[in-house]
Amino acid sequence: MRQHLFAANWKMYKTPEEATSFIQAFKSLLPPESKAEAVLFPSTTSLAAAVHAVAGTRIAIGAQTMHWLDSGAYTGETSPTMLLALGCTHVLIGHSERRQYFNETDTTVNLKLKSALAHHLVPIVCVGEHFEEREGGLTAKVLELQVSIALEGIDPAGIDPAGIDPAPASPIVFAYEPVWAIGTGRTATPEIAEDAHKIIRRSIAQALGSDLAQTTRILYGGSVKPDNAGSLCSLEEVDGALVGGASLDPASFADIIKNAQGSR
Ligand code: PEP
Repeated sequence: MRQHLFAANWKMYKTPEEATSFIQAFKSLLPPESKAEAVLFPSTTSLAAAVHAVAGTRIAIGAQTMHWLDSGAYTGETSPTMLLALGCTHVLIGHSERRQYFNETDTTVNLKLKSALAHHLVPIVCVGEHFEEREGGLTAKVLELQVSIALEGIDPAGIDPAGIDPAPASPIVFAYEPVWAIGTGRTATPEIAEDAHKIIRRSIAQALGSDLAQTTRILYGGSVKPDNAGSLCSLEEVDGALVGGASLDPASFADIIKNAQGSR
């Protein structure tokens, strides 16, 4: 069974001091015996403080985006080698807010995913349909296209899990994030989540083969809260959660993990 992963997307919130206070509180809220895999995604300026604050714990730190190249004349960008030098282990790729406001496309998602894998950063690739696409019966088509372009040109034989994620998990993580559920308080029903995750897993199998598809974790994201985390994460297809708003408070993020753990 794939182990649950809980990811906190802090978006453009939290200074270094606020990130450190969150981590101090969060560490004491997680039961000491907890085997939960948790990764926090602070903004770029808080990454160093967060890496320092999680030292000696099982909590990992990742970036909310990155460029795919190691260096170059790209003002404002951060490269994978820079993230590694800071102590980051994960990176979010293709979040819908990046797609909507910063010109992230399926093609740049593909470039970033290849780069993350080459640098042994664990990528969490976000996919999801807009409300109008769901209403128009296009959800499966949208998800299949996003996943297939993200994985284009990736050779499954070249995926090396060593050192980046606990075996037997695949080093690639996907997050199903229906755009209509992000920050809206509307959550996908269990049926919607289960169906979408199956479509995503089938598309991964088509690109990378069924063995890798079976070990690839697919998180659900979109208005996850302590009171719905248990029912969503109990689903066979849901391998954890990507949480925005409710991850900004340490007690709320810890409650999401506690309520989801052991739910399946
Ligand atoms: C997100 O930012 O990825 C997200 C899912 O946000 P929220 O939990 O606030 O809907």
